[in-house]
Amino acid sequence: MNGHIRRTEDFRWKDIPVSAYKPGGTHFAGITRQLLFDGGEGLRCQLRYFEVAPGGYSSLERHRHEHAIMVIRGQGRALVGERILELATHDLVRVPPLTWHQFRPGGEQPFGFLCMVDCGRDRPERPDAKVVAELRRDPGIAEFIRL
Ligand code: MN
Repeated sequence: MNGHIRRTEDFRWKDIPVSAYKPGGTHFAGITRQLLFDGGEGLRCQLRYFEVAPGGYSSLERHRHEHAIMVIRGQGRALVGERILELATHDLVRVPPLTWHQFRPGGEQPFGFLCMVDCGRDRPERPDAKVVAELRRDPGIAEFIRL
């Protein structure tokens, strides 16, 4: 097992493919995924690097599993629960269980973040029309979310 994976260029690593964010779907845009760490013998978590291009967005979703996130490229904004967060490089974000969340770049630069998750996790749930209507009661959230 190779315990040292070198960076090859900015935000790229040797033999780590740049993949689709999720298989199929139109509920996200301009986002790629790199699986940096895929669990150990006693460390049952994955570390992924996601990068969102200007104008892109991650899916609006929630699930029982949690995310621990660190911004490592650029700046962005995130819906986490009922708040829109302004995120700078090296900020940390925790997404608690069953909390609606979505990430977007803050401007015209790529927005990249590391995201740690449990290897054994539940499938994300997407909002139905009722949930979207509830979220949109807040004007800031209404402006922010992308479906
Ligand atoms: Mn998620």
